[in-house]
Amino acid sequence: MTFKLSKYNYFYKQDIDTYTCMNLINKTIFGLSTNKIDLINRFYDNPEALKNINPNLFSALFKLGIIINQDINEINFLKTEHRKTIYSTNSYRLTILPTLECNFNCWYCYEDKIKGKMTNEIQIAIYKYVVNLIKTQSLKYFQLDWFGGEPLICFDEVVYPLSKRIALLCKKNGILFNNMITTNGYLISSEMIKKFKKINLKGFQITLDGNEKHHNKVKKGESGHNIYKKTVNNILEIIKRLDDINLMLRINYTENNFESITEIINDIPEVYRNKIEISLQQVWQTEKVNKRMNIIQCNNSFLKEGFVAPLYKLEQKPYRCYADLLSQAVVSYNGNVFKCTARDFANHKPDGILQKNGTIEYNNIYFNRMSKTTIENDNCMSCEFLPACWGPCSQKNIECKPNGFKQICNKSGIEKTIQILMADFYKKNILKQ
Ligand code: SF4
Ligand code: SF4
Repeated sequence: MTFKLSKYNYFYKQDIDTYTCMNLINKTIFGLSTNKIDLINRFYDNPEALKNINPNLFSALFKLGIIINQDINEINFLKTEHRKTIYSTNSYRLTILPTLECNFNCWYCYEDKIKGKMTNEIQIAIYKYVVNLIKTQSLKYFQLDWFGGEPLICFDEVVYPLSKRIALLCKKNGILFNNMITTNGYLISSEMIKKFKKINLKGFQITLDGNEKHHNKVKKGESGHNIYKKTVNNILEIIKRLDDINLMLRINYTENNFESITEIINDIPEVYRNKIEISLQQVWQTEKVNKRMNIIQCNNSFLKEGFVAPLYKLEQKPYRCYADLLSQAVVSYNGNVFKCTARDFANHKPDGILQKNGTIEYNNIYFNRMSKTTIENDNCMSCEFLPACWGPCSQKNIECKPNGFKQICNKSGIEKTIQILMADFYKKNILKQ
């Protein structure tokens, strides 16, 4: 058997004697001395020879995917992994927007909060759609996902009854059912939490807009109501009363509220912190602001105080976004069907329309999206970061203007993420030894 070096190796010098290394398909970070890196480079075209000189090094590099069999075509392997996942039909993710209305009016929100709530008729059509899915696909896993607007405005009318019916349907058919919600968290009540248990609602994404002062400025309630305090209390109630939850606390930051963010830490008792995953997100309208904000330091403050706070991670799944998957849909309150959740639902043309009989009539937006693979273009096919990036998402792909690829390619972001992860590995695993 003959061997070669993978096209997707990333070696990053940390100090004069040390490199951190990773094969981007295998995704394991490890350290190597500069001497060993020199040896690898010396035998770049003939790793076979390295086997004779240093068999232990050769065997370790083979296990870590740095050296691979000569006859493996890595591009074809990646294309296969990508297609296998994109077109897989054994799981389904259904996002439902029971309303686009919201109880707040945050200045940065891109949703046009048009009035309207999901009717019984649309709920029946969704149920029929799931029945059809179960009949026609060999589903093993069903992910229900509530989004909006603020979905809890329609908790008793839509979220609870429809979740209950779909959960039961999955149970009867031996399908693993998972239920999650993206909410501002304010409307959660004790009664609701009781019902969350019944519908297996265990995944939560709740947002804070900074500390008490900043959050209450963005999310204004009736006078005398402390929105921040109630939201934080609701988060704590969920943690106390529900088992095995998956709670992401998204913290939106701007240059104005950034300094206040770490004050949130003291509002959450230590005992509950390891149940909360922190996700720091810059408000998109302020992304071009260059004021120095030390995100890593801020994230580390949460980490040190007991929260789960992985600031950077490399995607393990072989695609960019759930919207790229065939087995995924977003159904709006009026039956419009979308793929992407990051566009204004009121003013964007849908990818299809849900029919009364529980089928979706897709249009050319959908066919255009799903027929274009996101990675099979000259840029991604020749890109050394492909297995860490998986190309632009399907939404950006269909919005991309001719010659506009540069704007949707995140090469520098991916490389920075890899370098930060490696620097972190170096600090924790090599320097400390
Ligand atoms: S913009 Fe792209 S990454 Fe974001 S939700 Fe839409 S498809 Fe997914
Ligand atoms: S989008 Fe850019 S960084 Fe990502 S795989 Fe394609 S060329 Fe590489």
